[in-house]
Amino acid sequence: MQKIGFIGLGIMGSHMAANLVRAGHDVTGYDVVPASVDKLLHAGGKPAPDIASAVSGAEVIITMLPDSPQVSEVVLGPSGVLESAAAGVLLIDMSSIAPETSLAVAAAGEERGVRVLDAPVSGGEQGAIKASLSIMVGGSAEDFEAARPIFEDLGRTIVRVGGHGAGQTVKAANQLMVAGIITLVSEAIVLLEASGVDGERGLEVVAGGLAGNRILDLKSASMLARQFDPGFRIDLHHKDMGIALASARAAGVALPVTGVVAQLVAAARAQGNGSLDHSALLKVVEQLSGR
Ligand code: NAD
Repeated sequence: MQKIGFIGLGIMGSHMAANLVRAGHDVTGYDVVPASVDKLLHAGGKPAPDIASAVSGAEVIITMLPDSPQVSEVVLGPSGVLESAAAGVLLIDMSSIAPETSLAVAAAGEERGVRVLDAPVSGGEQGAIKASLSIMVGGSAEDFEAARPIFEDLGRTIVRVGGHGAGQTVKAANQLMVAGIITLVSEAIVLLEASGVDGERGLEVVAGGLAGNRILDLKSASMLARQFDPGFRIDLHHKDMGIALASARAAGVALPVTGVVAQLVAAARAQGNGSLDHSALLKVVEQLSGR
């Protein structure tokens, strides 16, 4: 059992923090939205009124925030995590952010004797609820081993992929694939329906063949029903496509399909659908054909 400070109790963080409570840890949580902190209280955790109170006395600090600016503010900012954290504490940032922000956080942590891991996740809200997340970790092997028991309370596939920032690069690769596959499932639905073929039966048989994939398994029914409650918001996927393209630029490689898919995600957002689930890419693909 460890004393854990958890910051960012949104769609993912609320379930992850609840799983840590269930696993027997002493979890104190903070979020800018008071209703999210109340959720942790109901799950058996302790509410904190600010970052300093969440971090005080913690052996492990977990952040699960939207994007780089929030992680920078919460960790590096005035009255942030590094101002209050004791030396030797392990800071695990599980948000999906730019690799260079993870590198900056790790460097600032090192200066203050705080050990840092970037550990973004995949698996969606269901993965957070069922503690079956894939966790891609960047940082030292020693810190990874120290964090492993906590990761095992949150996820099933847990891999150290390299040094600081490497977890974020793997997450960017994950996200470009997810958006690409959602786009292709959308194109399949548009083709089937425009051709007068039953979408449900068509995708059922496709799912058993070489084109079978997790998006089909998890999202095709809601896509066919045009239900786009989030899940994973278009706004966040737009952020991740930006990270993927910036990472490609930094690495000096061309990712042409990612570029096109990023523009389709941008279109979904520009059309006012940023708060819908990323499967709402189907709406953009339909509009291209005037449907
Ligand atoms: P979310 O917006 O639901 O949760 C983020 C939480 O952070 C919110 O509750 C928000 O109030 C809080 N927050 C923002 N600024 C804060 C601050 N300064 N101090 C304290 N709290 C603050 O987002 P989410 O869906 O839980 O995603 C969190 C991260 O995990 C994102 O980076 C996302 O890309 C990633 N992710 C999400 C999913 C998913 O399916 N939702 C899956 C994998 C990874």
